Amino acid sequence: MKNPNIVILGAGYGGIITAVKLQKSLGVNEANVTLVNKHSYHYQTTWLHENAAGTLHHDHTRIPIKDVINTSKINFVQDTVTEIKPSEKRVMLENGDLMYDYLVIGLGYEAATFGIPGLKEHAFTIGSINSARLIRQHIEYNFAKYNNEADKKQERLNIVVGGAGFTGIEFVGELANRVPQLCREYDIPREKVRIINVEAAPSALPGFDPELVEYAMNSLEGRGVEFKIGAMIKEVTENKLVFEKDEQREEIPTNTVVWAAGVRGNSLVEQAGFESNRGRTPVSDDLRPAGHDDVFIVGDCALLINEETERPYPPTAQIAIQMAEQTADNLTKLVKGDKHLEPFTPDLKGTVASLGHKDAIGVVFNDKKLFGWSASAMKKVIDNRYLLKLGGPGLVLKKGKLNFFQ
Ligand code: FAD
Ligand code: NAD
Repeated sequence: MKNPNIVILGAGYGGIITAVKLQKSLGVNEANVTLVNKHSYHYQTTWLHENAAGTLHHDHTRIPIKDVINTSKINFVQDTVTEIKPSEKRVMLENGDLMYDYLVIGLGYEAATFGIPGLKEHAFTIGSINSARLIRQHIEYNFAKYNNEADKKQERLNIVVGGAGFTGIEFVGELANRVPQLCREYDIPREKVRIINVEAAPSALPGFDPELVEYAMNSLEGRGVEFKIGAMIKEVTENKLVFEKDEQREEIPTNTVVWAAGVRGNSLVEQAGFESNRGRTPVSDDLRPAGHDDVFIVGDCALLINEETERPYPPTAQIAIQMAEQTADNLTKLVKGDKHLEPFTPDLKGTVASLGHKDAIGVVFNDKKLFGWSASAMKKVIDNRYLLKLGGPGLVLKKGKLNFFQ
């Protein structure tokens, strides 16, 4: 009997951890494992806001796939997936196609723009190394341009961030650190620059611990971030953002809108015909969509309901990694002829969000609240632990965040 073909789409948290685990649990004489990814590198999505603000170089965030994948065991294909055809067990790539016996989909998230006029055309999103690098360069360009124009344009110095979820809050925290450096570099008085965070809900970080939300807002406001809370973004143009608050429309002149107000699963998943809700496909507890026993979905493309809250688990790296580990174990069982798959049970360890270097907030170990340096150190521990899992101590030394006082 021929070896089954296992094809893994995407080398984000979900895809790469599936591949790294399978290269240990299956021999080359048991299965042909192929990992497909757009880029030659894996990136840590959870650090992209730092790259976008310019507080961390993007080379720190990306890891060459060949540094963590043993290419004598896993076939790595650098290509872009264009279509998934479940009925043919085939995946179309820009430069060819692949047949599978088992498919793992880990294609991650896209920005959800909710049809808001002008967003797609004029707003930036933090979605990849390329998009983060573009934001950093765009902000720098506007700072550089400011003093080169006779009519100094305030919109060059107004940076607006849509959404005060974790992404928006983490990003403005980095901007608050970066802007003073940019002001020195480009001879611009700090008070001329505005960092404005616009959030539709009645509070920043809706649903998160109120004491920690207050701590975060005080810390960020203390470093010059302005919040517009209860303010719904309605439109973005080339040089302004329009929002509605208390039934009044207001405008902020700006050339820089970064949309961090929601994510959805990769569109390729719904285009493949899987049932989906904002691009996330409902999966059973073994992470397979109904009627597709040969397909596993991990990470942000999967929609799994938390039985306790009756709500979907949030799309997080923490869950993507755990889903990948479970999927690799279950695939190993299937290849070895055991059809009894283990259910996925998330082990939620908490949430820690950075507010810029040295500051953070978090809830860990069953409701223990952390803030300030201890939360920031915890965030680095979490990040380093992931690198250890992915590539061992060598990778932690190379890419880890080892300075706990910065
Ligand atoms: P991703 O990590 O998005 O990876 C998808 C991969 O698929 C990418 O490598 C991409 O290049 C590749 N890909 C996409 N399309 C194609 C294609 N057509 N062809 C080939 N390859 C393709 N979660 C936490 O738990 N903790 C945090 O601290 C945290 N911080 C975050 C900070 C930011 C700024 C953001 C934006 C998110 C953060 N999250 C955090 C959420 C977390 O990053 C996501 O839940 C996680 O990245 C999802 O992992 P994934 O494997 O599903 O997809
Ligand atoms: P999110 O959906 O969690 O937050 C989006 C925010 O934008 C919400 O507060 C929402 O009210 C607001 N919003 C939506 N439409 C708006 C509009 N028109 N105008 C103004 N505000 C609007 O999205 P996210 O922050 O990108 O997070 C995505 C996922 O990634 C979540 O699961 C999150 O937990 C995870 N994440 C985790 C961390 C961490 O653990 N440190 C960091 C970043 C992201």
